[in-house]
Amino acid sequence: MTLPRTSTLRVLRGKAGYATSATRAPLSGLNSVARSKAEELSKSWRGTSATGEDTKNYIGGEFVKSKATSWIDVVDPSTQTLLTRVPETTEAEFAQAVDAASQAFETWSRTSVLTRQRFVLELQRLIRENADALASSIVLEQGKTLPDAHGDILRGLQVVEHAASAPSLLLGEKIEVSRDMDTYVRKVPLGVTASIAPFNFPAMIPLWSIPMATVTGNTLILKPSERDPGAAMIIAELCKKAGLPDGVLNIVHGTVPTVNAICDHPAIRAISFVGGDRAGKHIYNRGTSNGKRVQSNMGAKNHAVIMPDANKNLAINAITGAAFGAAGQRCMALSVAVLVGDADAWLPDLVEAAKKLKVNGGFEKDTDLGPVISPVAKERILRLIASAEEEGGKIHLDGRDISVPGYEHGNFIGPTVIEAGPNMRCYNEEIFGPVLVVLRANTMDEAIELINANRYGNGTAIFTQSGATARKFEHEVNVGQIGINIPIPVPLPMFSWSGNKASALGDLGFYGKSAFEFYTQKKASSPT
Ligand code: NAD
Repeated sequence: MTLPRTSTLRVLRGKAGYATSATRAPLSGLNSVARSKAEELSKSWRGTSATGEDTKNYIGGEFVKSKATSWIDVVDPSTQTLLTRVPETTEAEFAQAVDAASQAFETWSRTSVLTRQRFVLELQRLIRENADALASSIVLEQGKTLPDAHGDILRGLQVVEHAASAPSLLLGEKIEVSRDMDTYVRKVPLGVTASIAPFNFPAMIPLWSIPMATVTGNTLILKPSERDPGAAMIIAELCKKAGLPDGVLNIVHGTVPTVNAICDHPAIRAISFVGGDRAGKHIYNRGTSNGKRVQSNMGAKNHAVIMPDANKNLAINAITGAAFGAAGQRCMALSVAVLVGDADAWLPDLVEAAKKLKVNGGFEKDTDLGPVISPVAKERILRLIASAEEEGGKIHLDGRDISVPGYEHGNFIGPTVIEAGPNMRCYNEEIFGPVLVVLRANTMDEAIELINANRYGNGTAIFTQSGATARKFEHEVNVGQIGINIPIPVPLPMFSWSGNKASALGDLGFYGKSAFEFYTQKKASSPT
């Protein structure tokens, strides 16, 4: 369905003093730079739009208009401009997508690993060539800065490149078990698989699953985030151009009903989920109880421990970048700083560094952080900041009342630094905004105790110049990804994602060697 030229948009207007709804013509809220990017995207790509037309499903190699009766607005978080809408995919459309994937599996699973390797090599070339379009879509729909959008793509590209190792990483095993008899074990694909993505990395997360699922011979149903589907749709078109046969990748849009359909469909053998705790636990429980293999990467609270012997400038710069970059909407954001001993005195320097960060629209030059994803997300973050005040925390830097010239309706929050205690809500809940919670500890042992008691285990970092201190920390801290003087210690894709505790469910991690296990099953044969 095509949208009328004027569309009614619900815009939440809270403390910043804006109204509760507005009617505006498509694109009227965008400045000339953003508007030209939006027009270029809509003209060049078949599956999605940034000028108010509907985003399509991608089924059996075709971009198809949904017959849905329920639609979700995709809105520029800097201006509240309607960019596109995604359908709540109908049951019939979902069934068509699974049928297309099941049929395509019959032939794709029998292609040689070299054919599949050539596809991912071609895909990586096309993604590089079209990175500017992908980045424009990410900035428009997600709000992150242009350099950060390119980082989103690059980190996904690294997984595409890793997938090209398939011929080595799919090697099986063979041994002569008795005279005249060998046993060999092959890793064979599962069948139809599915991937459910969050809003914060619109290119990277689809690129965690698309290359890994397909290079291993599976077919895939992808459900992108309903907030920013554009990058996934561009990637789908690039997959087709790279030679991926129709039906191997299918994209359906929607929210909980579509997710539940994925969890329940008997033809879907495995689900790869990245997102928040509530959805992640639900999908893990529902998917596994239906006999599916599920990997679920969820929320986080990542601590940076600052020792008094740290290189102060390095630590402060690294922490401000990792706490406030991407407006704190990274599952590996450093959202807690633990100042140990005399490092206590560095809090004012941390606040000064945070104050210098520039908050603006993502296309604007020198922007350090853009808006958060939605008015609802903004309201939630503001509530968590207010809760710190109510619970006795001290706000050293308050970004709540920020107004960004030219972007008065955006979901902006300035960098915020809160001195808090471990029993406060702002420490115990994932904030997912540009808010750094600062705690104090007398010793490193106290800091480790605090981190180990936290329910999450995605990442942590220590800043110190002592090898012995770093080694002790690395040994004793119970977190899956650890940086020593590195703020965001995400391993490159030859390793697997290794967040632990409540940050992940399922035994097989994303990419690395684990992904080849996740997306395959073993077949043991013993010919004489
Ligand atoms: P989200 O959980 O709201 O949405 C993720 C996906 O789940 C979306 O496709 C959405 O449509 C679907 N969904 C949402 N609620 C659902 C429900 N109740 N039932 C079924 N499906 C549901 O997450 P988000 O806000 O898009 O992303 C932010 C979260 O993702 C943060 O918690 C962040 O830490 C996490 N994240 C984790 C990693 C990681 O690797 N650990 C990486 C990126 C993001």
